[in-house]
Amino acid sequence: MLLVGIGDLRRQPGTRSRYHRQLIVPGLEITSAHVPEGAEIDVDLELEALSNGLVATGTITVPWLGECRRCLAPVESSTSVEVREIFEPRPVDGETYKMSEDAVDLEPMIRDAVLLALPLAPLCAEDCPGPAPDAFPTGVEGGPDEVVDPPADPRWAALGDLNFDSSAEDD
Ligand SMILES: [Zn+2]
Repeated sequence: MLLVGIGDLRRQPGTRSRYHRQLIVPGLEITSAHVPEGAEIDVDLELEALSNGLVATGTITVPWLGECRRCLAPVESSTSVEVREIFEPRPVDGETYKMSEDAVDLEPMIRDAVLLALPLAPLCAEDCPGPAPDAFPTGVEGGPDEVVDPPADPRWAALGDLNFDSSAEDD
């Protein structure tokens, strides 16, 4: 839970406040990449009170570690993703996030944004030539392209990793 107090904001609809933190959110992982344990996610948001809700707009920058889809070398990089999400007392499942009287929990939003931002098919370099013969001495029949079989639709794998439990814990 990453609770942020919004009492002051809500008393004056139309006002904004900046939320900029470096946060550690464990367990962010899809099959092709993950956020290293203990790595900080930069969350830079502007929170704006609506008459019956809150909108969070900004940028989330996340460091990640993956495996090159061609040569399987580790790839370390970071990705920024723009977010614009609504929080409301009665959220619409999959569309908006839950807000209580005087606080929002930013963690579910950050998790969703990061899981969608992690690369589905990392490359160590645009022109990566594929597996090095030294590293794979046994050889593989066929070309390097046949070694790695991408999932039919990796986006579904990412959705499978989403954690819908965290909002239920608020009750
Ligand atoms: Zn590579």
